[in-house]
Amino acid sequence: MSEIEKVSCLIIGSGPAGYTAAIYAARADMKPVLYQGMQPGGQLTTTNEVENFPGYADGVTGPEMMMQLEAQAKRFETDVRFGFISKVDFTGPIHKCWTEDNKEIHASTVIISTGASAKYLGLPSEQKYLEMGGGVSACAVCDGFFYRGQETVIVGAGDSACEEAHYLSKLCTKVTMLVRKDDFRASKIMADRVKNTANIEILFSTDTVEVLGDGNGVTGALVRNSITSEEKTIPCTGFFVAIGHNPNTDIFKDFIDLDETGYIKYAQPGTSKTNVPGVFVAGDAADKTYRQAITAAGTGCMAALDAERYLAALGH
Ligand code: NDP
Repeated sequence: MSEIEKVSCLIIGSGPAGYTAAIYAARADMKPVLYQGMQPGGQLTTTNEVENFPGYADGVTGPEMMMQLEAQAKRFETDVRFGFISKVDFTGPIHKCWTEDNKEIHASTVIISTGASAKYLGLPSEQKYLEMGGGVSACAVCDGFFYRGQETVIVGAGDSACEEAHYLSKLCTKVTMLVRKDDFRASKIMADRVKNTANIEILFSTDTVEVLGDGNGVTGALVRNSITSEEKTIPCTGFFVAIGHNPNTDIFKDFIDLDETGYIKYAQPGTSKTNVPGVFVAGDAADKTYRQAITAAGTGCMAALDAERYLAALGH
């Protein structure tokens, strides 16, 4: 059996929340170990240009920003490791975690920054333009600006889709909203706002057949009415998907309090504390409202400070 490794601060996940937690924890001499997880760099690695993170006056690409955050964490000797944590046991005062290759780690403090994954339709054409940064996005606040003065399509009928459609309507000449059923799932107030916006057209009972493009970027969406089977093409340069997110919290569910949609619940609002002493959360794993790199980074800082205070109270 391999030896058990003891660490003072284990950070799980490598988005802005995880790396910011690492920078703070490392500078406080907590010698953090960070496991990057399944998608090193997190959701930002699938974002093209980041223009709303303070400090980058000329913008920065998502992957470049994540490389810089990683380098900054390493500069203070964060032990950044490729791989992921696949199992935890938070029943005792020592938090036990196992990597995917079954290495056992005992951590005095754990910072969960595993993020959330946007859901996509799964169409090959959608994935193609998503991967090449050619007009498919799951974040209107991040990417809407690139489509100002243009036509966009957004899929979804929940509060997020309504909020994002409204956001896009202020930038774009026209927004077409594709709703798969004959009604919204969103709250009435959000749905009404969309219905009352002149440049948003809502197509109910409508599915996406294909995201159309010219090889470089999106040029339209082929859609089908599920009642009449009629198909038509909607011209657009931006294709937004707002059909929900899955928080990456599955491995914690037996120990950490989650809400009904799987997001981690803060045990004490205004802190990063979970219901388990010594386990803290930062970023989108506990945030279904803001979901921004800057808010994730902010809560990453909070988690490291809370972890530091927790250790200090234990006399470490
Ligand atoms: P939801 O799960 O509430 O809604 C997802 C929407 O996507 C549903 O309308 C669903 O359709 C649709 N959808 C799912 N899969 C597909 C698919 N394959 N094709 C087409 N449509 C699909 O997610 P949200 O992100 O909107 O919201 C998550 C939570 O966050 C909710 O609790 C929401 O209230 C909250 N929230 C609140 C906000 C606010 O109050 N300001 C803002 C944003 C979110 P269908 O209805 O047919 O199932």
